[in-house]
Amino acid sequence: MNKRPAPSADGARTVRCPACGGPSLFSPQNAYRPFCSERCKLHDLGAWANESFRVEAQEDDGAEEAQQPRLQ
Ligand SMILES: [Zn+2]
Repeated sequence: MNKRPAPSADGARTVRCPACGGPSLFSPQNAYRPFCSERCKLHDLGAWANESFRVEAQEDDGAEEAQQPRLQ
C-alpha cells in the first residue's frame, strides 16, 4: 500500500474504476461507486452476469457437489 489516494476535505477519495480503470470519486456523492459512472456500473454488472452464467453452465458435470453444500 505505497500508493494511496489522498482524502479530500469531505472524506471523499478517488479510486480506480473497476470497469474502465479511470478515476472514480468514492463518496456518497457518487451513487455508482466504486464505478465512475452509471455506464461503467451497468457494464460491469452485465459482464459479471454473463460470466456467472457461463461458469454455471460449464459446471454441470457433478462438480457442483463440492462447491455448493446442501443446506438441510
Ligand atoms: Zn469507469
